Amino acid sequence: MSARVLFAAGEALPFSKTGGLADVAYALPRALVRAGLDARVLTIAYRGALDRLRDARPLTELDVRGQRMRVWEGTVDDSGLRAWLLDHPPLYGRAGSPYVDEHGHEHGDNAWRFGCFSEAIAKLALGVNGVGWRPQLVHLNDWHTGLAALWLGRSAPRPATVFTIHNLAYQGVFARHEFDALGLPPEEWHPEAVEFYGGFSFMKAGLLRSDAITTVSPTYAQEIQTPTFGERLDGVLRVRAGMLRGIVNGIDAQTWNPAADPLLFQTYDGGTVDSGKRANKRGLQAQLGLEVSDARPLFGFIGRLAPQKGADLLLEVREAFARGGAQLALLGAGDRGLEEAFRAWASTAPDSVAVHVGYDETLAHRIEAGADFFMMPSRYEPCGLNQMYSQRYGTVPIVHRTGGLRDTVSDLTGILFDHADAGGVRYALSRAFELFAEPARLRAMSARGMARDFDWSVAARQYVELYEGLARPRA
Ligand code: ADP
Repeated sequence: MSARVLFAAGEALPFSKTGGLADVAYALPRALVRAGLDARVLTIAYRGALDRLRDARPLTELDVRGQRMRVWEGTVDDSGLRAWLLDHPPLYGRAGSPYVDEHGHEHGDNAWRFGCFSEAIAKLALGVNGVGWRPQLVHLNDWHTGLAALWLGRSAPRPATVFTIHNLAYQGVFARHEFDALGLPPEEWHPEAVEFYGGFSFMKAGLLRSDAITTVSPTYAQEIQTPTFGERLDGVLRVRAGMLRGIVNGIDAQTWNPAADPLLFQTYDGGTVDSGKRANKRGLQAQLGLEVSDARPLFGFIGRLAPQKGADLLLEVREAFARGGAQLALLGAGDRGLEEAFRAWASTAPDSVAVHVGYDETLAHRIEAGADFFMMPSRYEPCGLNQMYSQRYGTVPIVHRTGGLRDTVSDLTGILFDHADAGGVRYALSRAFELFAEPARLRAMSARGMARDFDWSVAARQYVELYEGLARPRA
């Protein structure tokens, strides 16, 4: 099959990134191209993004709600993957990240910014602007693209649509006046359409109006059909259960390869893992000002400091860390209160706890390689990437048995615990300390993790199968 697939996302590496979606929006289309598909990425030209588009040339101009927007075409890297970037500086060229300003506040016009993006996706997919290449299938991602499913659903003929949930908690719910400003048809303001508890929801539009829904792990696909994880959309998801499946993300096996990772203190593979990890642990301890010691178990944490990720639980078990002689290397940013609390902890125990607030790719790689254990006490986790990186790097992941963590970590390659609370984490820590005291067992677990295959080709095959069942013209 050489289907033409347009892959649309509100963030995509190498142009932008706030989280796992950007990794997926880079790696999956590349894997689709490798699998023989004619896939292209469509994302937004945030400030500076066009500098990273290779061989950039203007593709077309679009009229979106009275605004003249530019679309640039170019290549992403040497893989041959092509990208289209929607460029309109008044909306997208601002300081800050894709969704928030430089002070961490949501842009006040996000409904308009992503509503316009969604409409642009639909227009480009329908080829309204004389662009020769038209997709047979549009793959939409998260709420930023949800209204594209609605616009496409109202058009005929049209390409098929797949909508992927990367995180159901972020839904894009806005007020009636935004609905009107975006020119949405009045009949869509209905509980069985996009109306949602007095506002309207981009996410709900994606769920109701796409031809198929996926999410990023089979367990999360089940969980989101329950009130506990369903974020008030579990009912919609149960109705559409027949169209919903979970496909676990892969990892970028080139960027995350301990045998050829230029960011490490020392590269290693299965044969040199003992000395390699020792060197990386020492290097990391030294870089972070921790006591340099092989004898102390070193735990890593990388991620957004948000309730989802459960970093607060680590603060609750400080004594357990101390009793076990453990060290912690934490890299993350987000909630200001949590940032402060972790800094305060580090200042009372600088030999044992290192906290780096911010975003740091190099340090992320070094923590993955240098830690003995990697903590992911997420309360929920659609897929999660770091637990896969950990296994590849011979680092034992410690995860809450939920979502993608449950689907990618087994009792043979990591430590799973059942309750995302202090008791659960304490239990997991005690298991980790036991394991650390038995190096042969720890090594065996680490080796089994390193031997696992998390390559994107596995996921790409499942997406291709899904597309094949959908990609025909819709009358
Ligand atoms: P989410 O998308 O929910 O934030 P994921 O685990 O799916 O979580 O993906 C997060 C990605 O961002 C991972 O690649 C992770 O390593 C990276 N990351 C998160 N925080 C940081 C940080 N402070 N510094 C470097 N990388 C980070």
